[in-house]
Amino acid sequence: MSIAKSVPPVSEASTPETQGRITIPDHVDRWDEYFLNMAKVVSIKSKDPKCPVGAVIVSDDNIVLSTGFNGLARGVHDDEEILLNADEKLKVICHAEHNAIMNASRIGIALQGAAIFVTKFPCLACCNSIIQAGITQIYTHDNEFWNDDPFDKDHSRKKRVLHEAHVKVDAPYHPEFKPTEQIVVRKKRVPGRETNVPARGAKLEGDSGA
Ligand SMILES: [Zn+2]
Repeated sequence: MSIAKSVPPVSEASTPETQGRITIPDHVDRWDEYFLNMAKVVSIKSKDPKCPVGAVIVSDDNIVLSTGFNGLARGVHDDEEILLNADEKLKVICHAEHNAIMNASRIGIALQGAAIFVTKFPCLACCNSIIQAGITQIYTHDNEFWNDDPFDKDHSRKKRVLHEAHVKVDAPYHPEFKPTEQIVVRKKRVPGRETNVPARGAKLEGDSGA
């Protein structure tokens, strides 16, 4: 999948009006960018004052299956004392990727073969959840790993499990990952007829996506 080099990481595209929390471009051509911007919008629901994260899970034919942001579990009070205490927050907060997976589970949506678009590179625990949910692709513009990952300080474990589980990682701004394949339009066979299903990396043009 080729990557448009002119597209800056979402995290770098902030304005004073948005106070660095969200910036949406006027237009995007690519499904990847479309869903990643959606994940950025999802992140604004986060109660984490220091690190809002958003995730969107999408089917292989570009249907949004689930979303999640990082925060305390449903029904648990968003206690400011907890959210402002880094040590305590790390112990109790539910990550965006895990929440997106659990939200799908809550209403019985299968994620086999789906992709996850996330504003930060997943931690080891979320990588394991991504694998176990059957998600086969991660897309992010994050250019670094999360340095507080408690069980994977050197990030070797998450790299290993993603590699061995054959999860495709598209992180074009991350020094440890590079685009690995060109944009292709996959042909999907349907009994009695043949139709083209645009790949997630393909342009939006001419496709309503609805
Ligand atoms: Zn995580």
